[in-house]
This record gives sequence, C-alpha cells and structure tokens, in this order.
Amino acid sequence: MESSLGDLIISRLSEVYSIKKDEFAPLNFKDPFLIIVSIILSQNTTDKNALKAMENLVYNGLEKPEDFLKAGREKIKDMIRVAGLYDQKAEAIIRLAKWSVQKYGGDLSLLKNEDPDQVFNELTSIKGIGPKTADVFLVFYLRARTFPIDTHIRRVVKRLGIADGSYDKMKKRLLEIFPDPMKAHILLIKHGRTTCRAKNPNCEKCVLNDVCRYHLTLKTEKKA
Ligand code: SF4
Repeated sequence: MESSLGDLIISRLSEVYSIKKDEFAPLNFKDPFLIIVSIILSQNTTDKNALKAMENLVYNGLEKPEDFLKAGREKIKDMIRVAGLYDQKAEAIIRLAKWSVQKYGGDLSLLKNEDPDQVFNELTSIKGIGPKTADVFLVFYLRARTFPIDTHIRRVVKRLGIADGSYDKMKKRLLEIFPDPMKAHILLIKHGRTTCRAKNPNCEKCVLNDVCRYHLTLKTEKKA
C-alpha cells in the first residue's frame, strides 16, 4: 500500500517531466570530491549557477582536494562568486578538502568501502555540510538508502499529505513510501520547481491533484 502510493506518484511525475543534467549539479560529475563541492555550491542558489562556478574551478585546474588547498581561499572565492555566499562556501570546501586529504589521502572513492551512516556522520561533522548536503551525496554517489529533503520536497510532500515533521521523521517516512530515493528526490524537486510552486501552485494542471490532500481540502472548502 505504502510503496504503491509511491509508485503511483513516481509513475505520474515521470510521464510529465524529463530531467536535464544541468538541472541537478551533482549529476554532472563522477568524482566524489567534485560531487560534494557541486552540492555545497548549489546551496541557496540554482544548479545552473553552481555549475557555472564548477566550470570556473575545473577550467582553472581545481579538481582534486590538494588543488583546492594549494589555490587557497581567495582564489576559490573568486572562482565561485557566481554561486553566491562565496565566503562560507569557500570555507566549507577548504574544510572538506582538508578532511579528504587527512582522512582518505585525497581519494574519496574509498568512501565506497564505508558504512553510509558513518559517512553521513563524518560529513555532517564538517562545518558547512548539513544533513541535506550529506544525504544528497550519499544518494547520488553511494546510492545509499537515504532521502535528502530540500525546501521543494518538504513543501510538496506536506501538501500531498504523505509526510511531515522533522528532517529525520520525514526522511524515514519517505523511505517507506519511495523504493527509489534518488529518482523520487529528483522528480519531487522538479515538481516543486515547476508545478507545486511555493506561491500559486498549479493544482488544476497537476497530475497528482486527485491524491493531494491540499487540493482535495481546498475543493471541499469551496463546495461548502
Ligand atoms: S495538487 Fe497542487 S498542491 Fe497538490 S501536489 Fe499538485 S500542485 Fe501541489
């Protein structure tokens, strides 16, 4: 019953949305360190801006943790300016680079041998890397069973009436509902960006309106 609701939501959203790689920054990288950097850069900005900043970094030869440490914070700030909040993002990237070198000799592919919970704890102990950033990495790189929740997902699932509460509570619930967290994460964000927007959700055109608590409640109130 639980996953059949998840299957229905995913099958309907898959029919209406096609996903382009530049809509989700981490889809554009294979290297684990660059994946995390792209996720940090996409905090509080669009994935397109994050990718422009990534292009600047890679064009200037910054690909490995050691390259970032050698370049130093001022150069990094200049290169990532387009992604906004460049002071704090540069600091987070430098802390991540230091951790990568000290703990894994700069090779984050070694994280594949680690327990995902342990990776989550280690990443979130780095200032500037929160639970959502760590979970996006876990899903996109390690294909771990976790569910990153951003503001779009929080809004969409609350309106649908399928999950609510704290980050952890919502994550647990969404894992019960969606068998493929990465696919669900991407499609729910796309839905939140295009149709179930914060202001003026386009409920009339929404493929989920017959199973959405928000929409069904509004309809009932209008009738009353
Ligand atoms: S019916 Fe409206 S509120 Fe519900 S998911 Fe669709 S757009 Fe969002």
